[in-house]
Amino acid sequence: MSELNLILLGPPGAGKGTQAARLREDFGLPYIGTGDLLREHKQSETELGLAAKSYMDNGDLVPDDLVIAMILDKVEEEGQDGFLLDGFPRTIGQSEALARELEGMGRRLTAALLIEAPDEVVIARLSGRRVCSAGHVYHVEDDPPKHEGVCDQDGKPLTRRKDDEPETIRKRLATYHAQTEPLKDYYEERGLLRRFDGTRDVTEVHDHIRATLATLRLEERL
Ligand code: ADP
Ligand code: ADP
Repeated sequence: MSELNLILLGPPGAGKGTQAARLREDFGLPYIGTGDLLREHKQSETELGLAAKSYMDNGDLVPDDLVIAMILDKVEEEGQDGFLLDGFPRTIGQSEALARELEGMGRRLTAALLIEAPDEVVIARLSGRRVCSAGHVYHVEDDPPKHEGVCDQDGKPLTRRKDDEPETIRKRLATYHAQTEPLKDYYEERGLLRRFDGTRDVTEVHDHIRATLATLRLEERL
């Protein structure tokens, strides 16, 4: 079967991580979560983590050179037969670096999956988001765990991310609009953009993405 090389795009809180968890199960794709990887580096105080910390805590993007090296290494190591990239690329420079890398490997992107949701929706979602240290995602009202404050999957305590405070949320949204939204045109022009209405419930968004990927796979085999 043809390989799936996918990226997830969309504002913070649109549901990229939530959908990624489902898609990796459906398609057995290696998942490369940029925010999760950066948080691991921060936690273990690597050189990269220490360099990234202040940007992340402020809601700014970590500089391209740091993120590009980290992600392209992962694509080479784990993404040989396909991948699901979440949170990368987030700038035109990152998109171009990914395109060059894939071209060098004789491969190409299958699709850029854009999950859209307006600012007021994502603000409400991020304010209620809770995560465990392994990255499993919940929402206090929309997707609560079975036992309050505890992850269903691994029993770890749920916490609020430091950057899910109101002021940082607004900053991240401004960063998204200024630096990441131009990627919509970039992928649209290349015929790769697929749009999904992220305001629908989790199952509906998931069904739409799965249907689109099934069609893409059929088209590739024709
Ligand atoms: P969200 O899940 O809210 O979309 P992430 O967990 O993907 O946020 O990212 C958290 C933070 O990590 C970002 O605010 C940013 O500081 C940093 N980050 C994540 N992806 C990138 C990227 N591609 N380029 C630069 N910085 C990034
Ligand atoms: P992103 O990775 O794009 O930042 P997440 O997947 O972490 O977004 O989701 C942000 C918050 O919104 C989480 O609390 C999650 O439980 C919730 N959420 C995700 N998708 C939906 C949806 N379709 N409807 C309602 N809440 C959602």
